[in-house]
Amino acid sequence: MNLHLLKKELEYVSHKVYEKGYTQATGGNISVRIPGTDHVLIKRSGVSLGEVSLEDALIVDMDGEVVEGQGKPSKEIGFHLGIYKVRPDVNAVVHCHPNYAIGYACLGMELPLPTVTARKLLGHVPVADEAPSGSQELASFVTDVFTKYPDIRISLMKDHGVCSVGKTLEEAYNVVDLAEATAKQAFIVSQLKATVQTPVTN
Ligand code: 13P
Ligand code: ZN
Repeated sequence: MNLHLLKKELEYVSHKVYEKGYTQATGGNISVRIPGTDHVLIKRSGVSLGEVSLEDALIVDMDGEVVEGQGKPSKEIGFHLGIYKVRPDVNAVVHCHPNYAIGYACLGMELPLPTVTARKLLGHVPVADEAPSGSQELASFVTDVFTKYPDIRISLMKDHGVCSVGKTLEEAYNVVDLAEATAKQAFIVSQLKATVQTPVTN
C-alpha cells in the first residue's frame, strides 16, 4: 500500500470538492481507511478543503488518537470513525456543505429523487438529526443513520450538509456530485411544477 498515493488522492478529492463549490471556507472533511491497517487518514481541522496539502492528512487510529502528523484531526472525526465501525464495506467518507442539498436538509426532508439515475444510484437519501458541529451527539446521529439504513451511500445532515460513503474516495466524491446535481434538479422540477400549476390570468 502506497501511503503517499493515498494522501495525494485525499488532497486531490479535497480540492475537487472545494472547486466544484460543494463546500465553502473551512467547511467539510474527508477521510479514507489505510488498507491493511486499523488506521484512517483524515483531514486536519480548520483547513479549507481548497488548501489541503499532504501535511494536512493525519493518520489516526480507531479511537481517534493521532498516530502520525501535526495538529488536530477534523472535529467530525466522531462520525467518520463511527461509520467505519458500522459499515465494513465503507473505505472513504466525504462530509461537505453543498447548497442545494442543504436546502432540503434545512427543511428536514429526505432528498427527492426525480431522475432514474438518482433512483438507481442513490436509492434513498435520509436526513440525520441536527446537533452542533463536532459534537458527540452529531457523531451519534450520523452514525445512527448509516446503521439504520445499511445500504445508503449518502445522508443529508439537518441544517448542516451531507455525508457520503464509498469503497474509494473517488466513489464517495461521485456520490456527492450526483446528490448535489439531483438536489438542483429536484429544485428545478419543484419550481416548474409550481409555475405550470399556477393558473395564467389576463
Ligand atoms: P473541520 O475543519 O474540523 O474538519 O470542520 C469542518 C466542518 O465541516 C465541521 O462540520
Ligand atoms: Zn460540516
